Amino acid sequence: MLKHFVIFGPPGSGKGTQAKRLVKRFGLEYIGTGDLMRQEANSDTPLGKKIKEILEGVGGKLLDDQTANEMVDDVLRDIEPDQSIIFDGYPRTMNQVEYLEGFIETNKIKLYVVNLKVDDANIIKRTTTRRICENCKRIFQDPEQLKISKCLECGGKLIARTDDKVEVVKNRLKIYNEQTKPLLSYYRQNKELVEIDGNPPQDEVFDEIESKVENILSRND
Ligand code: AMP
Repeated sequence: MLKHFVIFGPPGSGKGTQAKRLVKRFGLEYIGTGDLMRQEANSDTPLGKKIKEILEGVGGKLLDDQTANEMVDDVLRDIEPDQSIIFDGYPRTMNQVEYLEGFIETNKIKLYVVNLKVDDANIIKRTTTRRICENCKRIFQDPEQLKISKCLECGGKLIARTDDKVEVVKNRLKIYNEQTKPLLSYYRQNKELVEIDGNPPQDEVFDEIESKVENILSRND
């Protein structure tokens, strides 16, 4: 059976970084709604403007479910039907869960959820020091401390995300706790939920996720 994954966790928990490493390691397809939205925000369309306003606002406010589901649907259409996918930043609401469940059931896919648990203080520290490559979107944790001035992947410029300012992050955390975290109880009851301690250094966390995902992919279920 084809297997898809959702990587779940608060903003700044390392979802994007870990998901992109899993993509490289296991040849998964990546669907990250945060990246999709930042990309769309650069376009001069009504949707682009709407998203730009959300991203530059107080922080954490979600795009409406219908638009978010449509954006994911557009990407799903272009992916080969036998390709395993990892979703990052999606679903974020029960309506999005239901949309994804519909897709999963129609296409006879099995969905696994990886939940990254990270303490709030760690999240604030990580988000305020991380930088993203303007070009390839690779994330670098505290590049200043590591004396990295350009993207090691493509040489692109490293920039701070506008929604990584401390007050914005606090708001994003609040919205995550109110709107998205409750989805975990649904997944706990209905899917195989892999719990990961996301506090240790990135490589350690990756080793842990890698072995769990490897096990799932090698199993005959
Ligand atoms: P992220 O990079 O995943 O933290 O996403 C950045 C921002 O994009 C979020 O704070 C939301 O405003 C918006 N966003 C990303 N994914 C979704 C989603 N699944 N539903 C609604 N809004 C989203």
